[in-house]
Amino acid sequence: MSEETKQKLKGYDTTIVYNYKEHPNVISGRCDNCNNAQFESSVHNFIFLRKCRNCGMTKSI
Ligand SMILES: [Zn+2]
Repeated sequence: MSEETKQKLKGYDTTIVYNYKEHPNVISGRCDNCNNAQFESSVHNFIFLRKCRNCGMTKSI
């Protein structure tokens, strides 16, 4: 991750999984942390996870 990218982050912790109900998208379809619109989706234990491809912020949906 570049220094420029780090400075744009909103300070979300990318080592934990945020719950979508507690943290709805600030802008629909965009990462709350870096405003990126590309995500990796995966399913763990029947929980749908959406991970930002740029900063790594993860939400359970
Ligand atoms: Zn992001």
